[in-house]
Amino acid sequence: MESKASKGEVHVIVFPYPIQGHINPMLQFSKQLASRGLKVTLATTSTFSSKFKKLKSSSITIETISDGSNEVATPENVDAYIEKFDVVAPRSLSQLIEQKIGFEHCDVRCLIYDSTIPWALDIAKKFNIYGASFFTQSCLVSLIYYQVYHGILSVPIQGPGICVAEMPFIEATDLPSFVRQVGVHPSLEKLVIDQFSNYGEADWRFFNTFEALESKAVKWMTNQWPVKTIGPCIPSTYLDKRLPDDKDYGLSLFEAQTDACIQWLDAREPTSVVYISMGSLASLGREQMGEIAKGLQKSNKYFLWVVRSSEENKLPMNFKENISEKGLIVNWCPQLEVLAHCAVGCFVTHCGWNSTLEAISLGVPMVAFPQWTDQPTNAKCIVDFGKIGVRVKVDKRGLLTADEIEFCIQEVMDGKQTKEIKNTATKWRHISKQATEKGGSSDRNIEEFVSKLLYS
Ligand code: UDP
Repeated sequence: MESKASKGEVHVIVFPYPIQGHINPMLQFSKQLASRGLKVTLATTSTFSSKFKKLKSSSITIETISDGSNEVATPENVDAYIEKFDVVAPRSLSQLIEQKIGFEHCDVRCLIYDSTIPWALDIAKKFNIYGASFFTQSCLVSLIYYQVYHGILSVPIQGPGICVAEMPFIEATDLPSFVRQVGVHPSLEKLVIDQFSNYGEADWRFFNTFEALESKAVKWMTNQWPVKTIGPCIPSTYLDKRLPDDKDYGLSLFEAQTDACIQWLDAREPTSVVYISMGSLASLGREQMGEIAKGLQKSNKYFLWVVRSSEENKLPMNFKENISEKGLIVNWCPQLEVLAHCAVGCFVTHCGWNSTLEAISLGVPMVAFPQWTDQPTNAKCIVDFGKIGVRVKVDKRGLLTADEIEFCIQEVMDGKQTKEIKNTATKWRHISKQATEKGGSSDRNIEEFVSKLLYS
């Protein structure tokens, strides 16, 4: 069959929301597409594009588009950020596509846009190219937002919880924060629900998950509109190993203290270290940081704790200086390398979807400490559906106490459930690998998409 590529390169433009947790999986998906013969341009803001490390083997180009700001979206500035983004970015994205379409040897065929940017589909239609929506959250979380958009669930969701898609009961505390408490972050609430405003009109709907992990949610969503699971979108070294040198995402806002982390882990015994991170956005109070610090000390385990530089001033006085060889605090780490290190025995996580998929893919048991947005539902997936960890209980003040964190670490690392959790984690590791390997469910979905673009 003659490939479109013979008339010039078949080109897709990928447009993630410019935050770390959305860029990572979409960049990883881009690498998968590029390795299968597509030319890929990833459009992002200058804050991120300046940090891109080009892969030797990949044909991904990073292009800068304007978002109208010189800052990154954070929980504090997000309302103003979204407002500017929605005015400036459509123009900037249109200009980029126009410029690429004007390039002679390039056949721009598809815009793969972040599902939280539904207006991007209008731009794809304007240029008469395919539009594919990419969901960076779990299928279950998307299903809940879908039902809210269509009025099947009304918000705020009240009562003890919900039953959806023939799945076990989901308690109220496991629901995404935006459907339980309405009006706290109005722009973000609108953003997640509006993902479904033109959902059925997209040519493809990609989900960063894998069939076996969320079969019931995937089935329910597919019954509405076909969806394609294409995850876990994590660097190839840790899963299918088909992309050479693909050890990290390659685009990070923060500088990882790689040597310090790996050398320190190299000196520890297997499964002796607690790794703790709250991702790129979550921010804890001073009192909470104090309780975690105390709990880590009480656990008497070695620990590697990521405390972003903006959070460091909340650590107890002299804590960092006095932890001796028992702990290492860094501002950012190469998370995948850390999770893959044999010294790591437990991951205390805020349950961001990327962190969740990374730990599942690497078979690392978790202590779930969800904060907001989709994280409580991801915690449910980790603990009750996946059975690869425990969830912390917070006290009446909403605090995770030192005793509780010590207890949860003990449960995961030295408790009655330890062996079972570890075995289940190892099982999930194999299943996630299978999904991405040749012929696996995610691999087949990617292949099908690429073939459609190249040959029809
Ligand atoms: N991450 C990292 N180093 C760190 C902490 C996090 O590389 O020290 C990466 C992590 O591997 C993941 C992303 O940052 O890919 C965080 O995404 P996630 O969805 O877990 O959480 P968010 O930051 O969006 O809350």
